[in-house]
Amino acid sequence: MLSIVSIILGAMVGSFLNVCIYRLPKEESIIWPRSHCPTCKKIIRFYDNIPLISYLLLRGRCRYCKGPISIQYPLVEGITALSSLFLIIKFGPSLSYLFYFAFVAALIVITVIDLYHQIIPDGISLPGIGVGLLASLVIPQITFLNSLMGILLGGGSLFLVATLYEWIFKREGMGGGDVKLLAMIGAFLGWKAVILTILLSSMIGSITGILIMILKGKDFKYAIPFGPFLSMGAVIALFYGENLIRWYLYWNR
Ligand SMILES: [Zn+2]
Repeated sequence: MLSIVSIILGAMVGSFLNVCIYRLPKEESIIWPRSHCPTCKKIIRFYDNIPLISYLLLRGRCRYCKGPISIQYPLVEGITALSSLFLIIKFGPSLSYLFYFAFVAALIVITVIDLYHQIIPDGISLPGIGVGLLASLVIPQITFLNSLMGILLGGGSLFLVATLYEWIFKREGMGGGDVKLLAMIGAFLGWKAVILTILLSSMIGSITGILIMILKGKDFKYAIPFGPFLSMGAVIALFYGENLIRWYLYWNR
């Protein structure tokens, strides 16, 4: 029962995240006006706006002009619904569930916006740092001190890497957005998870970069947005961080 409620809630939140993804980079209001088809501009009726189900019923096309609806919409709704389910399994119906669901939702929005526009909106990461620090006061998973150290280590370490990179290669590798994102990750997950997130995201990022180079068959010069890899690393750290750290310490006694 709880699982079903969490999936439905997750899909509804995912539908809202799609609105944020579409409108935040354009600095439009996320509440008004109502959603409309980008092709024919007709307002999307509530019965055509049911998360996941409407996309299937309409077969991915607008009811009026038959213009294609991006696969991004059901993907984000599905991933958000699954995240909600996994988080309720991990934390139960609790404040921790709410805070970490907000955290993962923020990561989803940041990932998609960074993929499209190569920016990470301050409007998400900066308030996120505050919300994470606030959460540490009321949830049992993280202490205030750990959250604070996470912010400093996350913001500080990536700032250092970015500065060094620019100094060596004379071009910008990582943006300031990545620094603020890692500070937010530190606020929610603590300083150990920051180290784990950096390791995991560099690994996933390198593998992806090499794969793209092989597939495209040429030198890979343009920068890949790093936000999606940081977000992936953070989600792995959230669900498996303690196990990974324990496993690492076990093999390096
Ligand atoms: Zn249309």
